[in-house]
Amino acid sequence: MIYHLNLIMQTTCIAKIGIIGAGPSGIFLSLLIAGAPFEIHLFEQNGKIGEKLKLTGGGRMNITNKVFSVDEFSSENQNLLKKIFKSPWIQNREQIFEELGFKYFWEKNRAILESENAKEEVEKLKRKLEKQQNFSLHVNSRIVSAKQENGNYKLEIQSSDGAKEDFFDIVVIASGGMFQIGMNTSKNTVYKLATDLGHTVTNTNPSLSSLSIKNNPFANFAGISLHGTLTDLANKISITDDILFTHNGISGPATLDFSGIRVSNQTQICFISKISEEKFIKDFQQLRTGSHGLQKLLHNFIPKRLVEWHIKQISTNPEIKIADINKEKFKILIKNLFHYQFETIKETRYECAWTTRGGIPLNEINSATFESKISPNLYFAGEILDVNGLCGGYNISFAAISAKIISEALKKRWLNAKITA
Ligand SMILES: Cc1cc2nc3c(=O)[nH]c(=O)nc-3n(C[C@H](O)[C@H](O)[C@H](O)COP(=O)(O)OP(=O)(O)OC[C@H]3O[C@@H](n4cnc5c(N)ncnc54)[C@H](O)[C@@H]3O)c2cc1C
Repeated sequence: MIYHLNLIMQTTCIAKIGIIGAGPSGIFLSLLIAGAPFEIHLFEQNGKIGEKLKLTGGGRMNITNKVFSVDEFSSENQNLLKKIFKSPWIQNREQIFEELGFKYFWEKNRAILESENAKEEVEKLKRKLEKQQNFSLHVNSRIVSAKQENGNYKLEIQSSDGAKEDFFDIVVIASGGMFQIGMNTSKNTVYKLATDLGHTVTNTNPSLSSLSIKNNPFANFAGISLHGTLTDLANKISITDDILFTHNGISGPATLDFSGIRVSNQTQICFISKISEEKFIKDFQQLRTGSHGLQKLLHNFIPKRLVEWHIKQISTNPEIKIADINKEKFKILIKNLFHYQFETIKETRYECAWTTRGGIPLNEINSATFESKISPNLYFAGEILDVNGLCGGYNISFAAISAKIISEALKKRWLNAKITA
């Protein structure tokens, strides 16, 4: 079904572009090439655009982050990712969001929508698309196959009006990762269009998921959150941020990021992030004289119910005084506060994960243009690629950066076409 048809050609179009997927990468790309003489067709299998985008940041959309380097991303080919990070659009990403009309404020390092309303923002983007010339949005239109034929791309489109085929000079696959709202996905279906056109796919895994804890000792603390550190005991990589306790285990920003980098089930939590272990021990020893209570000291760092849990591990007396804590109990207290170990199990269902780790390998695209090295005039944008960011605005940023890089490459072609004409 063609939802909006604005094919009022103001200028002669030099190429017909099919963009597959109206998530942030497809939407942003369509907007960033507005004004260039392309006939743009944006295809979305759902009835509405940006369904996943509406859920981001708990409905407030984290769009980018002040801390932004290759270290916050993972890929099977970290060297090629480093090459992509040389693009000026990595540093100038805020300029892309400004061009797209986003207004935001900073909450610590994260840029959050000024309206704090992701749904409303998607509606705004849709209204912008509707005003665009030479543009048509096809919702309820799933691309089921892609073939190269006589130098063009033939896309097979399944829509509410039935099945049809159409030809395009340029195709951009912006169809996201394994979790697609309203769809039961398999690796074969999600990456089919790319593999139809000769591409391969790396291993894929659900990333940014909650973790369950085996024999969860914190089950009664569901809903409590604290700023702490999670460490993987195998690779020793740590993430410090907010940890939310859930009935089954842990969630929240630190956990989501941690789930993307952990390599084993052996996890350590440090409950105190405000001060170092050494400083805590020093302060504790100074309070040994007098009648200072442990409860009061711990309250400075962790929520009340967790304080009770820590005290319970060493004493039956909730009012225990620091002076009454012997060497052995002190050792247990420090171990629990700074090095508590447990076994975590990651949700393995893609629908429980915010992103997919893996995708189209970076050695199959040109890192300066995101054009396929296998099939000319084919491009990839966003999460379909083997680039996975941490939680906190990295993945939407990558969608925007990849869209911008492709838009610049396409506009350059247009300029070249003008010069040769
Ligand atoms: C709950 C949740 C919260 C998140 N919060 C944040 C956040 O705050 N900040 C952040 O940076 N990231 C966040 N993310 C991750 C971010 O949403 C994704 O990384 C991002 O949406 C990827 O954009 P994309 O356009 O590449 O893919 P998608 O958003 O997945 O869009 C792809 C689109 O393509 C369509 N499609 C797929 N196949 C076809 C086909 N064959 N034909 C037609 N259409 C097709 C899909 O229906 C979909 O609409 C969050 C994710 C989730 C699930």
